[in-house]
Amino acid sequence: MRFTRADDITLEIPRAALEAIFDECDRYNVDETGGRILGNYKNSGRQLSISVSGVIEPGPSAQRTQTYFKQDGEYQEKVFREVEERVPAIEHLGNWHTHHVNSLRHLSGGDVETYRRTVDHAKHNTDFFYALLVTEKKPGQSGLQRYVFKNYVMRRGDDKIYEIPATAVTLVDSPLVWPVSEAHAPTQKTSRSRAAEAYTRSFGDVAKSDLIQDQDVITQFYPKVKTLQSKDLGIYWRGLITLADGSEPEVVVLRDTEAPFECSVTLRDPPQALGPVVKSFGKATFPNGRAALIAVERACNAQLVSTMSPRKRRGRLWMF
Ligand SMILES: [Zn+2]
Repeated sequence: MRFTRADDITLEIPRAALEAIFDECDRYNVDETGGRILGNYKNSGRQLSISVSGVIEPGPSAQRTQTYFKQDGEYQEKVFREVEERVPAIEHLGNWHTHHVNSLRHLSGGDVETYRRTVDHAKHNTDFFYALLVTEKKPGQSGLQRYVFKNYVMRRGDDKIYEIPATAVTLVDSPLVWPVSEAHAPTQKTSRSRAAEAYTRSFGDVAKSDLIQDQDVITQFYPKVKTLQSKDLGIYWRGLITLADGSEPEVVVLRDTEAPFECSVTLRDPPQALGPVVKSFGKATFPNGRAALIAVERACNAQLVSTMSPRKRRGRLWMF
């Protein structure tokens, strides 16, 4: 596939938008993920200036695998309508998605086909389609250096796939229309949980908002546990939890695919000392993922402490 250098297209993108995109990539480091990009544009002749001002997350019912990604369109449309009410001039500029999990460093043939269909569609609102692609995770880097991304534009009735050169991309510090930026928030909340609140307020779907709360709590308190999704299992969580003795057993939390979405938890290859915990959790269910993780972490720590207690008692005898 050939990409053409776009000499007549410029892009302005807020650092907060990249932050939102990279945070999403951090959450799904095994499966593809992505979202919608909002903003404004100006064009005269071939000259096109794109200005990004918002990113809509994939939504609670998005489907992901390592090579496949489908957004939750219903959720995204609701968010778009809400933003549009506040900012009537807002436009849907295109999409972003990531290949950092499959190491393809450019748009795939499937991506190009989909975007071509979109941009040539009679109902598409603009004469172009903008695509941001995360291509690579940079190990050992932090902040906005932690991922590499490319920018593409496809134009209506034009077969070429344009790549915007890095020199035509400007990072700015302007606030986002979505997710609502922290700088404008009354309290110190992450943009993610503000989005979750807005979602709950607007659409009130208990199961979905519970899942967003799960994501918030698990990202914050169990950074080594990742949210995953598969066709067979639905949504589940897998990763390491850190115990009081510094050990890090691997935990898997499965979530029922039907209401009331009960969760169960298992330890993979647990150390022998945690045998009783594994047994007691065999049939236990929890109302959500975070409850399952907190319960298993506590039970493991309690078990570890109880095996240490004889030494403590001896210590106490020596003291008196
Ligand atoms: Zn792709």
